[in-house]
Amino acid sequence: MNNNIYETKFIVDYMCGRLAKWLRILGYDTEYSNKNLKTKILLKSLQDQRIVITRNTKLSTKKAYKLIFIKYDKVFDQIKQLITELNLTVDKKNFFSRCSFCNVILTEFSKKDLVKSKVPPYVYETQKTFFYCKECSRIYWHGSHYELFLKDINKLL
Ligand SMILES: [Zn+2]
Repeated sequence: MNNNIYETKFIVDYMCGRLAKWLRILGYDTEYSNKNLKTKILLKSLQDQRIVITRNTKLSTKKAYKLIFIKYDKVFDQIKQLITELNLTVDKKNFFSRCSFCNVILTEFSKKDLVKSKVPPYVYETQKTFFYCKECSRIYWHGSHYELFLKDINKLL
């Protein structure tokens, strides 16, 4: 089974916050609960067919659409575990397509539509394309953090 980016959705519990952020950066629809609300997470999993990501071994797999217990402490090991167990698609074209804070799909726009004062001057001078989150109004671009991320993810694969 190959997990398609459009079909695979997650709900991550409060113990795996960094992993939730990474899944969003990889392009996966990922809900995150910063509270320990077991019933809510399980219900949401069934309703939306979301895979529950948890470190809580007391959560019953029978009550979720699907459930993965995270075995590692480090976020890179956690991602590796998911890639292996779920045969996740990791494709550059999906990276940074979502807001890592809101899980909302970002809207692409060009420099001519950008209010100059919204980003640092260096970024304004060097970047052509920007991405906007309509939920939190954050503006993203493929700067040095993006290159670092690509390096990290390449190490992983
Ligand atoms: Zn946002």
